[in-house]
Amino acid sequence: MVRTRIAPSPTGQDLHIGNAYTALINYIVAKKAGGQFIIRIEDTDRTRLVSGSEQRILQSLDWLGIPHDEGPDVGGRFAPYRQSDRLASYQTYAEDLVKKGHAYYCSCTPARLEEMRKTQEAKHQPPKYDGHCRELNLSKKEGYTVRLKVPKEGVTRFTDLIRGDVSFENKLLDDQVILKSDGFPTYHLGVVVDDHEMDISHIIRGEEWISSTPKHILLYQFFGWDVPNIAHVSVLRNPDKSKLSKRKNPVWVSDYRAKGYLPEAIRNYLASLAWSYPDGRDIFALREMISVFDISQLKTSAPIFDVEKLRWMNGEYIRMMKATKLKDQISNFYGGKYDDDRVEKILPLVKERMKTLAEFESLAGFFFENPREFERPVSIQLVQLLQSILSHCAWSHDDMEKAIRDAAEKQNVKAKDLFMELRLAVTGKTVGPPLLESLEILGKEETLSRLQT
Ligand code: GLU
Repeated sequence: MVRTRIAPSPTGQDLHIGNAYTALINYIVAKKAGGQFIIRIEDTDRTRLVSGSEQRILQSLDWLGIPHDEGPDVGGRFAPYRQSDRLASYQTYAEDLVKKGHAYYCSCTPARLEEMRKTQEAKHQPPKYDGHCRELNLSKKEGYTVRLKVPKEGVTRFTDLIRGDVSFENKLLDDQVILKSDGFPTYHLGVVVDDHEMDISHIIRGEEWISSTPKHILLYQFFGWDVPNIAHVSVLRNPDKSKLSKRKNPVWVSDYRAKGYLPEAIRNYLASLAWSYPDGRDIFALREMISVFDISQLKTSAPIFDVEKLRWMNGEYIRMMKATKLKDQISNFYGGKYDDDRVEKILPLVKERMKTLAEFESLAGFFFENPREFERPVSIQLVQLLQSILSHCAWSHDDMEKAIRDAAEKQNVKAKDLFMELRLAVTGKTVGPPLLESLEILGKEETLSRLQT
């Protein structure tokens, strides 16, 4: 049975777009094999917890349409697994390792470790535990940590589904703390115990965890457990190849939601970052991807997350969307602020240009509100002329067009200038949706009143 997971730590504002990417790959691998996808909240680093983070991560996964398949039943819904609910289990496993001679109690105080770190830094040595307690055979005592006893010699290897064989020399690995003095496991122990106990068949995570993996492999060996399949996906980068960071682009899924991106477009875009659909097309549904995806085809080169491309793709999804569905999306996005019937009439005029739901407002806001600002001053003379033309005009775009063109000819002004002035006076802008069709919807009375204003 294929079982995959993501194991987010609730230490950020929300689900990072990079974690959404990893979640998606995990979900697809599980679904392709008819397996299960699991969420496990890794909340053992108590000092870094951010309140509300877990809830927002779950909401974002739900919004993205990446549902999990199991977990404790809470009111008919699956809660995620949570490491803080499972502390006793880690403690038992850590003690077991000490008994088997693969781990040891460590009495070093934070002050001593800090001193050691400074000395190493001064000598330009890599930071690494100096083994002070390694051979002391200390017994369990409050305030002690448990450290992994990494063999001094040999090599630890694993085969990565994407990267092939990876190996690390043991002498370079740290005697990592696996159980902290507060009784909480560190990431390394927590992740190995849980992936084993939760029967995870494929560990798929970001490449930033590669250097942790040999420590995990040692733990699997010490416990006598089978090592699951392992794959490290490349971390998303900005177009300039720098690591995605808040300074350059929004990084939280909720930012994209707030800007009016659609979950199906985000999924499609993320999926296409390091993988190509077999027939080469850009737009494909999750269901289609699930049927043909193969993790070993993921490229190891850095996937570039380009917001402009995402925006383009989002626009494609908006264009493909049925009118009634798009109307509902607008209604949800703006919390019912705009009249549905009117939105439905306006959409054909703006749909082609809208790349995000938020752009509905910038393109069509003038249908609902007088312009508050004007891109440039309006020519009073031209507006007066327009008033007199339109006040006697039947309200269809053909009639308006004819009336304006005839008047332009008579008055010896350019029709183009009249149209531009009309647009500016009514919408505040010099570009926008088809003008006369827009005025048809806006109505004669409202148009003339804006010209008067
Ligand atoms: N808790 C780790 C994280 O924050 C999980 C890494 C893993 O998937 O093993 O991403």
